[in-house]
Amino acid sequence: MARDPRYDILFEPVKIGPVTARNRFYQVPHCTGLGWLRPRMAAALRGMKAEGGWGVVCTEFCSIHPASDDLPHPYASLWDQGDIRAHSIMTEQVHEHGSLAGAELWFGGSRTTNLFSNEVAMDVANLPNAIGIPYQARAMDKSDIRELRRWHRNAALRARDAGFDIVYVYATHGYLLSHFLSSKTNTRSDEYGGSLENRVRLVRELIEETKDAVGDRCAVAVRFSADEGGDDDGDPVIGEHRDMIEMLAELPDLWDININDYSREMGVSRFIKEGSLEAYMSYVKSITSKPVVTVGRFTSPDTMVSQVKRGIVDFIGAARPSIADPFLPKKIEEGRIDEIRECIGCNICYTGDGTSTPIRCTQNPTISEEWRRGWHPEKIAPKGSDSNVLVIGGGPAGLEATRALGHRGYHVMLAEAQHTLGGRVSQESELPGLGEWARVRNYRVHEIQNMHNVDVYFDNLMDAEHVLAVEANHIVIATGASWLANGRGSYNQTPLDELGPAEQVFTPDDIMAGRLPEGPTLIYDDDHYYMGNVIAELLRSRGIPVTLVTPEVMVSNWGDYTGEQGRIQRRMMELEVDIITSHALTAFNGNAAEIECAYTGNRSNIEVDSVVTVTIRSPNDTLFHELQQGLEAGTGYKPDSLTRIGDCLTPTIIAGAVFSGHRYARELDTEVDPDNRMKYDRVFFEDE
Ligand code: ADP
Ligand code: SF4
Repeated sequence: MARDPRYDILFEPVKIGPVTARNRFYQVPHCTGLGWLRPRMAAALRGMKAEGGWGVVCTEFCSIHPASDDLPHPYASLWDQGDIRAHSIMTEQVHEHGSLAGAELWFGGSRTTNLFSNEVAMDVANLPNAIGIPYQARAMDKSDIRELRRWHRNAALRARDAGFDIVYVYATHGYLLSHFLSSKTNTRSDEYGGSLENRVRLVRELIEETKDAVGDRCAVAVRFSADEGGDDDGDPVIGEHRDMIEMLAELPDLWDININDYSREMGVSRFIKEGSLEAYMSYVKSITSKPVVTVGRFTSPDTMVSQVKRGIVDFIGAARPSIADPFLPKKIEEGRIDEIRECIGCNICYTGDGTSTPIRCTQNPTISEEWRRGWHPEKIAPKGSDSNVLVIGGGPAGLEATRALGHRGYHVMLAEAQHTLGGRVSQESELPGLGEWARVRNYRVHEIQNMHNVDVYFDNLMDAEHVLAVEANHIVIATGASWLANGRGSYNQTPLDELGPAEQVFTPDDIMAGRLPEGPTLIYDDDHYYMGNVIAELLRSRGIPVTLVTPEVMVSNWGDYTGEQGRIQRRMMELEVDIITSHALTAFNGNAAEIECAYTGNRSNIEVDSVVTVTIRSPNDTLFHELQQGLEAGTGYKPDSLTRIGDCLTPTIIAGAVFSGHRYARELDTEVDPDNRMKYDRVFFEDE
């Protein structure tokens, strides 16, 4: 299909200093959980973005010297010859598709502890470690500043030698340079402290020195915050930042603008919607003639065009939309907009940074798997046989298996008990703030609808007899999981002896099915993610008094990894939910709940009419076991395989279910070594 001319503007080349981007799609630097630890996986991931049409593809934060070491958060590095070789794998793959490669040079300051390199952290002043580790950063003296400038210059030269086209000066996100800029952290009395001019001095020097070192061949970009932050309600507090940008306006070749509050800049869709940075940064283009890029979880090409036409940005910056769909630009270019796999704003991709593991994505199960499993987000091997496949259950696992098998050309029969597809995603997207999660279903349903080799059977609650009667070659059980109603979970390892009466005890499944409690309600959250607090929000919207009890030290402990914990806790407080942390539910008799302190074991009672238990889920695997037993007993018909996937295999997050379905589809009729299912990115580069 041809591109809609409305979107032509997105495909105009844009000059950035000495280089030119082939279009306006710009993958800004974003972490991947790969860094220098897994360079071939990182290179293939970035190369895929270029293949998908991103005109600029950047690295993640790239340390200029071992004195800036962020482990356990994986980062890239430009320390030596080995790093040059590692990065050149990436730049070659990016260049192969005509795109530009950018390197984000980084020095962490008091945000880094240097636990790996054992170097002493340095910052503008003596500062506490910014992430609560009992190490401090020492104040840099003038010779340290000279050293830092030398390190930065040398890293820029190494970036150039590795083939990068854009080199960053990274002056935001609470790292060293933002501390020099800030009047709060910069308490120096020398020429690097005090006046605005002095506080901007180091950033200015680094821009000038980077230009001097590599500016003939590479563009120099500055990543900078448009605001000083401070107002959680979304009213921009620009403060001195406008003056700073004015002072440096024409110095860099490109401005990569973000904002101070990370939980807004890359906020989850429950709290932050598309294009949320505009109010903060729309002034930037009026004070510089240089190209400007920002992010905003843009997935709508109309919004993108509007951003450019209204003079807000020159480039459409993206991290998450490029993770969820590396081929987003290509799909717009080829008039295939309805095939875009839109980011749902869940931030599972961000958890790789905190957990020190390769990035994963709810929408894109192939991310991180490009090199080690050879998976491509848009291509999949044709079917390996003429077998047909019966998939039972149309949740994220069953839908993804069906979609990918359909692409391979298999005849797929998808049986779903309900009148609609989507399983848990359809239910959960009805909960407060989670509407965008329906995109997991919508993308897959749209794809399946256009496949002649896929038949969907709605309102089909399958039992073993029905399944066997189909006589399919392969049977896939994707029947999901159900929340337990007996209190068992991480804290209570056995079911509670006293938990009733049943009509006053609820699970998330009850709530999502519309069975709501009455009267004061205790939500027992031993799941530690979104479900407990989203239900609290729902019940509060119905006027129900809620007490939220969790054995953890804060609400939604795991939500810290997705960067939403702070906003969740605040939302609970604003909704006047009573929060009781470090306690577990031990009993409920219909009038009062008994809770236990996780540290002392002391018990106390709370008078409530209802209890909602949010603990763990049990796989809906009865059908699987019945079939397994039936087949073992021998019935005449024998399928080639019987497999369970997704939450039916083991309950997990939606990303896990999608991955499980995808993997099944990829591996059907292929040879997979059961002991080594993928390649391992163990690289041993020599130092020289
Ligand atoms: P997952 O996350 O693993 O995809 P879900 O719980 O989201 O699991 O989806 C499971 C789907 O399976 C639901 O849509 C449910 O209605 C469907 N289902 C469960 N049991 C059966 C069955 N016996 N026959 C057909 N569909 C079923
Ligand atoms: Fe978007 Fe979620 Fe994928 Fe991240 S994990 S890119 S937020 S869909």
